[in-house]
Amino acid sequence: MTDQPRVELSDGAAIPQLGLGVWQTPNDEAASVVGAALKTGYRHIDTAAAYQNEKGVGEGLLASGLARDEVFITTKVWNDHQGYDSALRAIEASLKRLQLEQIDLCLIHWPAPNRGLYLDTWRALIKAQEMGQVRSIGVSNFEVEHLDRIISETGVTPVLNQIELHPRFQQTALRTAHAERGIKTESWSPLGQGQLLSDPAIAALAAKHGRTAAQVIIRWHLDSGLIVIPKSVTPSRIAENFDVFGFKLDAEDLAAIAALHQADGRIGPNPTTATF
Ligand code: NAD
Repeated sequence: MTDQPRVELSDGAAIPQLGLGVWQTPNDEAASVVGAALKTGYRHIDTAAAYQNEKGVGEGLLASGLARDEVFITTKVWNDHQGYDSALRAIEASLKRLQLEQIDLCLIHWPAPNRGLYLDTWRALIKAQEMGQVRSIGVSNFEVEHLDRIISETGVTPVLNQIELHPRFQQTALRTAHAERGIKTESWSPLGQGQLLSDPAIAALAAKHGRTAAQVIIRWHLDSGLIVIPKSVTPSRIAENFDVFGFKLDAEDLAAIAALHQADGRIGPNPTTATF
């Protein structure tokens, strides 16, 4: 494995702290994008059934020639496949599309409380783990009430929760709740979908460190102990986003970024009220 930071999960597995996100990466580009990332040194890819590119991701992984245990693959069960039996079928379909015998980490994509099925879906993930189809199980977009319900009903705590998290929406309360429960935090839309790259405070830090805005923001996630999955389909940006291990932010930099939080800084849907 390349020398890069990993985060140990509560089930003993270790996830590379920096991965490549592939949301909105077309399936027919996914193999070459994943190939470029693996060549750069990435060892962690974040996909989902809903991204409709698991096939391309699997092809990119195979073509890389890397040993299976060198690369960490996350996928997710989509809302339409929630429920015990449908989630188990969805995991089998993901395995097939990815051409894998085991998924490293499988997440419930959204709690979708309007559907009332996330507890049954969690039981399916537990079963898939028992059957060896998935190595680790976690969730995405869960709020504290959703986390506590699945934990108290099953006794199984998700290893991580993948949530919207960037300098403009820092999720301090949920991160504290995670830490109290032994759940790691993974940041989605870590660059604010690119919107944060033109922020003047970030630009000032980039100038101070002789780095790009994207590198400063990714470094903030790493220095905050978060697992981070920036997305790009452009090989030069994929490389730029991985070239973040040679510098660190100081206390003053972290304070400047802490000040960027906004109560209404969320870009994506609110997990509690979203109905999809
Ligand atoms: P992001 O914050 O990673 O921003 C990506 C955008 O920033 C790119 O499309 C590009 O326009 C720009 N960008 C990236 N690197 C750049 C660089 N070096 N220079 C200039 N511009 C650059 O946004 P995202 O894709 O929404 O989030 C990352 C990943 O998180 C996704 O691909 C997906 O894997 C995951 N995600 C998960 C959920 C969920 O519900 N679990 C939701 C959204 C995203």
